[in-house]
Amino acid sequence: KKLTVSLDHCQYPIYIGKGILAKLPEVLQEAGMTFRRKLFIISDSHVAPLYSKQVQTVLEKAGYEVGMAIVPAGESSKNLQQLEHLIGECLRFGLDRQSVIIALGGGVIGDLAGFVAATYMRGIPFIQIPTTLLAHDSSVGGKVGVNHALGKNVIGAFHQPMLVLYDVETLNTLPKRELISGFAEVVKHALIWDPSFIKWLEQNSEELMALHAEKISEAIYRGCQVKVAVVSQDEKEVGLRAILNYGHTIGHALEAVAGYGVYTHGEAVAIGMAGAVRLSTKVLGTDKQVVVKTEKLLHAFELPTQYNPSHVTDELLLQAMKRDKKVRNDEYSFVLTSDLGSVELVRGIHEEQIRTILQE
Ligand code: NAD
Ligand code: ZN
Repeated sequence: KKLTVSLDHCQYPIYIGKGILAKLPEVLQEAGMTFRRKLFIISDSHVAPLYSKQVQTVLEKAGYEVGMAIVPAGESSKNLQQLEHLIGECLRFGLDRQSVIIALGGGVIGDLAGFVAATYMRGIPFIQIPTTLLAHDSSVGGKVGVNHALGKNVIGAFHQPMLVLYDVETLNTLPKRELISGFAEVVKHALIWDPSFIKWLEQNSEELMALHAEKISEAIYRGCQVKVAVVSQDEKEVGLRAILNYGHTIGHALEAVAGYGVYTHGEAVAIGMAGAVRLSTKVLGTDKQVVVKTEKLLHAFELPTQYNPSHVTDELLLQAMKRDKKVRNDEYSFVLTSDLGSVELVRGIHEEQIRTILQE
């Protein structure tokens, strides 16, 4: 399956399929990589032992000169120290402006390696090879960056990849909880955009959870389609792109307050979407059936819809949401839903309204 992202200043393909890692050289050829012969793989300590050899071998056979750096797995690698370290590795390997960086891993590696590519010698091209389900979201759209001690993703850039190659076979080694986390973003893409995708997810949840290759490719394809549709209308998030934050206002606050790692990103977003749809009934008068259906869909993918009060208090959550850049003069902004498959950014929501839905 192939999808094309078309932006004002660039265009790139997303390939999705089973066993397509082996086709990497052909895909590179197709992308016009004839004169770029030096490639540098950035991966993490879980993914590299599983897939880096295969990628390296197939590229070397095709005549590329391939270097590699491996960072410790986990969110804590997404920082400026790693950035500096990786830039050193790129320099030592002799990467120049004709070279290409390959991000091989989940969203952490995509964001980190993408930011290396965005900043190295004022920017060189990069390729995304996502290996988590969540990365169907992070590998498309061009947001790259690292964390600061005072905030997640606050140091970054917009830097679009030159292509995305998604081999769904890599998902077979993904821990179950990470897989489930990724389904939260798939469900999000359906909920914000596409009622027929929602129905399809309902009907296919069991096969998807079992990683049926064709179904999972289809889910990734449709999820990416939504992301591409939104990003191509608003690459730099001046308007529409904000809807991709559905479930993320509560979700980000929950991750921060509970302590990173207590909830996966997807679990937090699932709880956030359940909160947002409850809030929608109060603010927009959305039908209660939308709440029921949303929760049912999340549960079908074994995602939570409520947080454990022993992890966080409502007050701490509200405080964390207030620190969110979207809160102005005590008025919160939320992406809310009026019906399945359609959402909007609503400003001027008061703390009291949020308080009532948090523990509902
Ligand atoms: P991750 O990259 O940390 O991967 C999750 C875990 O799975 C890690 O331990 C990793 O080593 C392991 N793993 C990855 N692929 C594997 C495989 N195939 N087999 C076995 N283990 C594997 O996390 P993630 O959930 O993919 O991404 C989360 C990150 O993505 C966050 O930092 C978030 O900020 C970022 N993100 C960015 C965007 C964006 O638009 N740029 C969007 C959403 C999320
Ligand atoms: Zn997210």
